[in-house]
Amino acid sequence: MLTRRFLVSFLTGGLFLPQTLWARVRKARRIKHRKVVKSHHVAHPVKAKKILHAPAVHRNAPPPKPVIMLDPGHGGKDPGAIGVSGAYEKHIAQAAAHSLHNLLQGSGRYNVVMTRSEDKFIPLQGRVELAHKHRAKLFISMHADALLNRNVRGASVYTLSSGASDRQTAFLAQRENSADRFASASFHGLSPEVQQILASLVHEETRRGSAHMAASVVKSFRNRINLLTHPARHAGFMVLKSADIPSVLVEMGFMSNRLDEAALKQAKHRQQVALAMKHAVDAYFASQKHPLG
Ligand SMILES: [Zn+2]
Repeated sequence: MLTRRFLVSFLTGGLFLPQTLWARVRKARRIKHRKVVKSHHVAHPVKAKKILHAPAVHRNAPPPKPVIMLDPGHGGKDPGAIGVSGAYEKHIAQAAAHSLHNLLQGSGRYNVVMTRSEDKFIPLQGRVELAHKHRAKLFISMHADALLNRNVRGASVYTLSSGASDRQTAFLAQRENSADRFASASFHGLSPEVQQILASLVHEETRRGSAHMAASVVKSFRNRINLLTHPARHAGFMVLKSADIPSVLVEMGFMSNRLDEAALKQAKHRQQVALAMKHAVDAYFASQKHPLG
């Protein structure tokens, strides 16, 4: 796993390189640099001084905050599910996403962007494209759909079912095969076969990240939010079909259930859901920093 992760990271210009490995690379660079400086110091003291000052800028620069894309489901002409008492899923999703946005942004650890912050219709593919445009490191879609069985209640979380094996993802993978998204010089000049191998490794990393985030949500929801039986599920949701951004879809409950709908209409309950989600996001990114632990 480490070898694969490292290979992907190396060849995609460090896109997925875990921080622990970055630290090692930086340390190695510093050691190498010191040797260079030392050897220059004897013969060219002026040059050595210049070299000594250059890397300090890089060492002190804070790492960029990861971008999280929150996606409140539906909107505008698409109301989503309509609850037993008449509440619209699109409004519940938007209100809950706003609460989560405020918690995450307020923590100062992330840059949080929303696919929509008002009641407007955005096509599904447009949501994924927005996440790419903002170079999101995590995509979270928030819903409260309806089921035919009105007795079913509880939250659940979904990841993409079969990776690149379905037509839609295969299309995306093909489109992405140009690999421009990874914006690394390492990709250019490689044969299409090697690019394809790299793309599939990136997909595997994405699948792994999505599964990790889903597990983190379930763990955080336990004892806080009522969960569906077998709450971590798989489905072919369009918004989860990003090839390179770990993505989950959270069903906060079902509008078809009287108790779930009543709870989701309450700001206090939505705040509890948002808090549980924030814990899940924190745990997810903490585990990304220490993937070997
Ligand atoms: Zn929905």
